[in-house]
Amino acid sequence: MTTTAAPPKPKVSADEARAVAEAAREEQWAAPSFVRDLFLGTLRMDLIHPYPLQDPAEAERAKPFLDKLHHLLATVDSDKIDREGEIPPTVVQGLKDIGAFGIKIPKEYGGLGLSQLSYMKAIELVSSVDGSVTALLSAHQSIGVPQPLKMFGSEAQKKKYFPRLATGAVSAFALTEPNVGSDPAAMETTAELTPDGNAWILNGEKLWCTNGTIAELFVVMARTPSKVVGGKEKKQITAFIVEASSPGVKVAHRCHFMGLKALYNGVITFTNVRVPKENVLWGEGKGLKLALITLNTGRLTLPISAVACGKRCLEISREWADERVQWGRKIGQHDAVAQMIGTMAANTFAMEAVAELCGALADRGNSDIRLEAAMAKLYNSEAGWRIIDDTVQVRGGRGYETADSLRARGEKPVPVERMLRDFRINLIFEGSSEIMHLFIAREAVDKHLQVAGDVVMPGKTTAQRLSGLIRSALFYGWWYPSRWIGWGFWPKYGEFGTLATHVRFVERSARRLARNVFHAMIRFGPKLELRQGVLFRLVDVGSELFAMAATCARAQRLRTDDPATGAHAVKVADVFCRQARGRVKGKFHGLWRNEDVPTYTIAQEVLRGEHQWLEKGMVEVDYGR
Ligand SMILES: Cc1cc2nc3c(=O)[nH]c(=O)nc-3n(C[C@H](O)[C@H](O)[C@H](O)COP(=O)(O)OP(=O)(O)OC[C@H]3O[C@@H](n4cnc5c(N)ncnc54)[C@H](O)[C@@H]3O)c2cc1C
Repeated sequence: MTTTAAPPKPKVSADEARAVAEAAREEQWAAPSFVRDLFLGTLRMDLIHPYPLQDPAEAERAKPFLDKLHHLLATVDSDKIDREGEIPPTVVQGLKDIGAFGIKIPKEYGGLGLSQLSYMKAIELVSSVDGSVTALLSAHQSIGVPQPLKMFGSEAQKKKYFPRLATGAVSAFALTEPNVGSDPAAMETTAELTPDGNAWILNGEKLWCTNGTIAELFVVMARTPSKVVGGKEKKQITAFIVEASSPGVKVAHRCHFMGLKALYNGVITFTNVRVPKENVLWGEGKGLKLALITLNTGRLTLPISAVACGKRCLEISREWADERVQWGRKIGQHDAVAQMIGTMAANTFAMEAVAELCGALADRGNSDIRLEAAMAKLYNSEAGWRIIDDTVQVRGGRGYETADSLRARGEKPVPVERMLRDFRINLIFEGSSEIMHLFIAREAVDKHLQVAGDVVMPGKTTAQRLSGLIRSALFYGWWYPSRWIGWGFWPKYGEFGTLATHVRFVERSARRLARNVFHAMIRFGPKLELRQGVLFRLVDVGSELFAMAATCARAQRLRTDDPATGAHAVKVADVFCRQARGRVKGKFHGLWRNEDVPTYTIAQEVLRGEHQWLEKGMVEVDYGR
């Protein structure tokens, strides 16, 4: 049984939580970022256009593996996996045999040595079949030991662990605790150095650790002794590679969920676990930064999974809407259903444009993709969820019925119900949608904070404020007026043909976005961070503009390289952009005319119990029983 305690105790102040998050940020922007510039009002199409494609030599290298994976996946029975809550050992062994646990691990250490984009192509194939298998592979190599080891491991660590990991020693990432969800500042797992300095002693409990029940190796985040910097305590979080076989490591409970029934996810306890000092990853106190940097590419698994889901939903909806006749017509000819299917096609194309762009940028290595990856995660998981929801609707009652039940009464076992259950978690883990909004907002206003932070942030000295004022006057005196000027009309971007109008819209809207970010900073000052409704709309505008730019660039590339597909792509991209423009205008409008304040007020009244009258008329349920 688990020792997990339930209700969260607020042990950490908002200031402390912010300080821990800030300390984990990558402060430098060593390479350009399309999205960062977008928020500053500059459209850098040169960073994403011509749309980067996979290097043909790399595609050739990946092909034999992808073919084997395809072949293996064709034998996977996902309904059985869902029903029994286990991935058959033959499937796991098959994946190990073809190298699927070491896709990105360099060849010299026994891995396949493939690129991020090739890894994503593999994940797309897996996700088109089974969410639990995706989670097994991705928890291992998107956030588990291989990725941080590749980025931050010492040569000795790589030599020791990569060969094991590549051949299928499953790994897991252990950050979450009962009181540590989105906010790591309250972390209670600790690591203390032994008196001889040779090892760390780990104590604590980790919750919801995917692969945790079968893992041979963990990346564990733990608090190490705080440092005092400038008279203030600075909390330290350190990452350790921990062997599951070490005395004191225990699987206390296997967790079960709404979907992903075969997730090997558990509560893992660490009691006086001795971890050799050589197993610290990167360095003492660098654990959270390591997790964040790892996630910059690690986060790209979910966006491509969402693409696979979109494609499968499109296939299911296309077949059913063309077959099912109601009220004298195929349901796909009724406008309401057609709207859903048209939108599904447009969004699937956009999601693929976003995900593959990020993968290609990651491989190219000359862009800072922290914002792009976070947006891809946010945008694709939300869009994917809407697509599945619509697919359930298109399938009607059959969308709600389980595949087994459909099969038992002689119908095609289309697993939309399972897909919906499996997909929902994507909006929660690897950074919930809310946390992704906040992360993007923080990075998006970074330039403004660098310039004007001393003016608007609390706790600054008079001297700091004065120098901040001078800096701001120098920067904004040029920057702000220039966000009003610029030609974003015909004939600019003519090479995009019929899509040029959308690219021009992105350019004009980027300037409008930058102005609005600035206006919001002036209007709300340091309180802007509390106005999440406003911040989230700004982020949503940025995400839509990024998706539009990626979509136009991809369609244009297809038109050049493959005119037949390209002509179709342009049509689909055009519909996506038309719809996205409507959403962008709505978000801009909502920035300054909204119901955020009264809604917040009602929510606080609800929390204080003032609207419990609304909850009358129910049978009382005692959840404690
Ligand atoms: C199936 C599954 C697999 C998982 N796998 C792993 C794993 O392998 N390793 C691991 O370490 N963890 C894992 N997790 C944990 C997962 O990453 C967390 O669930 C996630 O970080 C959210 O934390 P929480 O559930 O405690 O939510 P909380 O942080 O308590 O948040 C609850 C709600 O409040 C919102 N919220 C929180 N803070 C803010 C804020 N400042 N502003 C606005 N909204 C906010 C959240 O978005 C969410 O909607 C897994 C979880 C699940 C369910």
